[in-house]
Amino acid sequence: MPGPERPPKKPSRRIAVANQKGGVGKTTTAINLATALATTKRVLLLDLDPQGNASTGLGLPRADRGAGSYAMLVEGRPLSTLLVPTKVPGLDVLTADNNLAGAEIELVDMADRERRLKDALTKEPEVVARYDYVLMDCPPSLGLLTLNALVAAQSVLVPLQTEFFALEGISQMTRTVDRVRRALNPDLSLDGIVLTMFDRRNNLSEMVARDVRAFFKDRVFETVVPRSVRVSEAPSHGLPVLLYDVKSPGAQAYIQLAAELLRRDRARAKATAA
Ligand code: ADP
Ligand code: MG
Repeated sequence: MPGPERPPKKPSRRIAVANQKGGVGKTTTAINLATALATTKRVLLLDLDPQGNASTGLGLPRADRGAGSYAMLVEGRPLSTLLVPTKVPGLDVLTADNNLAGAEIELVDMADRERRLKDALTKEPEVVARYDYVLMDCPPSLGLLTLNALVAAQSVLVPLQTEFFALEGISQMTRTVDRVRRALNPDLSLDGIVLTMFDRRNNLSEMVARDVRAFFKDRVFETVVPRSVRVSEAPSHGLPVLLYDVKSPGAQAYIQLAAELLRRDRARAKATAA
């Protein structure tokens, strides 16, 4: 006998974690947001940075990483054959390795070079549908890898380090998102700036946070990620800070950030249903 009818599963939400600047907390945010979300959701993290820091930070040594995003984007191997489970229950990853650096160049001559990721996800809808969230950790540039993420995503999350040039950096990011929305992906929205490495003792941190909020209003998450030494130690143990030291202020911030993201997504779903 068939069981009670279940409502069809909501399509997975695809979020690119991007900022053309390096060292602003993209990978840290991708890993820890993914881990926090995985306590209640099924999550897939796509490592799109040739540095492979998200893969390393999740405890996947290069030796047992296998083929990853390079094989999918350049060689056209199916995503389903490349996924790797992590120590975090509910979190799978598509790994990255140095060979991905070549993809920026090899993709240039390919047809639909900016849609390779989107096409790969579209080709296996049943695989993608296993996940409630697909997060993409982008490299620190606005090259083809980041472009592929922006074309495949519905939303961009921009980690922003609270420092002097923060606003300048974010305006380049918003222009890029606008351009991609107009030319390649009308669904794309910038809905989330996350202030990272916030230092409460530093007046500049406060000032930058105020300016960013004055300009971007509710597109800035209320949750602020503090600078915390436990956050920077965790990757060398191959662990998200949530598993390394869940009581630390950094881990707690990412738990709050995940809760805020889920709240925002529920509010958005309600608004579009109404
Ligand atoms: P990106 O991916 O943007 O290049 P990362 O997430 O790798 O940036 O962060 C850059 C460096 O800063 C890393 O060494 C990371 O461990 C450290 N870091 C990130 N967030 C924090 C934080 N909240 N507190 C302390 N160190 C942090
Ligand atoms: Mg990174």
